[in-house]
Formats: sequence, C-alpha cells, structure tokens
Amino acid sequence: MKRIGVMTSGGDAPGMNAAVRAVARRAMSQGLEVYGIDYGYAGLVAGDIFKMERSDVGDIINRGGTMLYSARYPEFAQVEGQLKGIEQLKKFDIDALVVIGGDGSYHGALRLTEHGYNTIGLPGTIDNDIPYTDFTIGFDTAVNTVVESIDKIRDTAASHERTFVVEVMGRGAGDIALWAGVAGGADEIIVPEKEFDIAKIAENIQALRARGKKHTIIVLAEGVMHADEFMTQLKAYGDFDARSTVLGHVQRGGSPSARDRVLASKMGAYAVDLLLQGKGGIAIGTENNQLTYHPVTELFDQKHQPDLSLYEINKSLAK
Ligand code: ADP
Repeated sequence: MKRIGVMTSGGDAPGMNAAVRAVARRAMSQGLEVYGIDYGYAGLVAGDIFKMERSDVGDIINRGGTMLYSARYPEFAQVEGQLKGIEQLKKFDIDALVVIGGDGSYHGALRLTEHGYNTIGLPGTIDNDIPYTDFTIGFDTAVNTVVESIDKIRDTAASHERTFVVEVMGRGAGDIALWAGVAGGADEIIVPEKEFDIAKIAENIQALRARGKKHTIIVLAEGVMHADEFMTQLKAYGDFDARSTVLGHVQRGGSPSARDRVLASKMGAYAVDLLLQGKGGIAIGTENNQLTYHPVTELFDQKHQPDLSLYEINKSLAK
C-alpha cells in the first residue's frame, strides 16, 4: 500500500472536511501518498484527481461543506461508469479509496468492492440513516442547527399563539426530527417510522390550548410529507393559526460541531489504520462509543433504525 485516494460524495455534511483532513494527515504520517478526488464519482470517472500535501487540508477542520466538492452522478450505477472509475484509479496507481458519503455513495463503494477494488466507506451525511453506526458525520451539527431554529420559532409562536409545523431533513429517516424535537421541546414529533393520526394531533393541540398553552411546535420529518400538506390536513380539524416552515438546506451548512469534528477525526484515522492492516471492502461506524467496521457487502442487509425511545420520551415530556 503506497497511495490512497479520498473523496466526498452525495449530499454534503458538516465534518466532511474534518474527515478528509484526518484521512490525509494520518496517511501522510504513515508514509503514504494521498490523492484527492474532486466531485465524487463524477470526478473519479473524469480523472479529476490531484496529489494532496499536508497544507491542502490546513484550515479546513472548522469549515462546513467539502473542499473536495461533491456531486450527484447517477451514471455510476452502471457497470461502464464503475469500470472507468477503476481505470482512473489504476492510472494514478491508487491502491485503495476512502469514500465519505451517505447511502448512495455507499452503493458506489459496494460496486467498487464487488469489482475487487479496495474501498472503505465513512458515513458522512446529516441524515444519520446508515446501518451499523450510531452516528454519522454531520448529524450532530445539523441537529444543533435545527434546535437553534426551533428556539427562534418558539419565540414567535409564543408571541402570536400560533401552531408551527417545522419540516426538517432526513430523507426517509426520522433521526433529525427525533433528536431536534426532544432538544427543542417539540409538542409533537412526526417521523416515518411511527404512524400518526392527524385527528389525534388536533385533539392534543386543543387540549393544550384549553390548559393555557396556546402555541404548539410540531417537528415533521421530510420523509413523512411536506409541511404545507401536513398543515392543510391539520386545518381540516381547526385553524390553530397554523404556519409552516421548511428549514431546508441551512441544515446542511455551518461550522461542524466539536462532536462531528471528533467523530470525523477518529473515523478518518481508523480508515487509514485498517487499510494499513490490509483491510478493505468495509464501512466504518461507531457503535456504543466504539469504532467498528462491517463488510460493505453486508451493510444493506441491515436497515437503519433511529432511536425511537426518543419518541416515547417526548410523548411524556410534551404534555
Ligand atoms: P448520498 O451518498 O448522500 O446518499 P446520493 O444518493 O446522491 O447521495 O449518492 C451519491 C452518488 O453515489 C451518486 O450520485 C452516484 O454517483 C453514486 N451512487 C448512488 N447509488 C448508486 C448505486 N446503486 N450504484 C453505484 N453508485 C451509486
């Protein structure tokens, strides 16, 4: 093992830069050469590849986004694209590749592994929807961003005695909604993993109002439905002076939290150590506060489950 490549792919997440830095610096300190690949799988196929120096990753640990850029490149689902990517890696004499990304990026890593090319996946996504890891890089920062926004919405909701439906990201997963909902003191958390009854929610809002709590915050995971649609359904049961807010891409940006920086640093360094031990075709995670890895071929046999105890806890705290 002499040369490794590193890239970020799919949806960007705060802490990706810290992960790139950790991979590059650990590898360089072990005498490896590191090549950065810009624009994810699109850049891989196009040969957008450059040799990294220690200074290339200076002053990025604190920055959101990704210095290696990211891209969507659906063509990588075709064998032709995958083989072209491997051709480029061979042309640059890159022995192994570290991919930092989410679910889609992991599928790309799986394909490379199936073709016999050594690849390691690091979970970089705000959604936290990757199996075999309690947390993904970027999740903690996104949750903190959402909580800050909920705090602000609470001020205006209270002043006007309104009901707010706050739509948060997460794709098909309810993790951001659950964590931010509990931390933000939401009255209701609506996630794809739990059924809900809109008539019951309307009843709860009415009961809260009758008890003197005139403003309500509902945190809605985007995987359930859009906030506007939810509000329209809710209004069939009463006006509640309801408003909807879609937090959108603000959740993907910002300086990574200390937790995300530490997680990215640990996982990035671990990826290099595993490669040096001859391991590959794996995805890295953190389970019960321990770094772990699993064959990427097994990753999709397992379905990610959010911590649904948060849902139950919130039911009793919101009353
Ligand atoms: P994320 O990694 O954040 O889930 P995407 O789903 O957009 O983001 O995936 C990122 C990239 O991974 C895609 O643009 C594509 O290049 C690659 N990819 C996604 N799905 C597959 C697949 N089934 N096979 C090969 N490559 C894939």
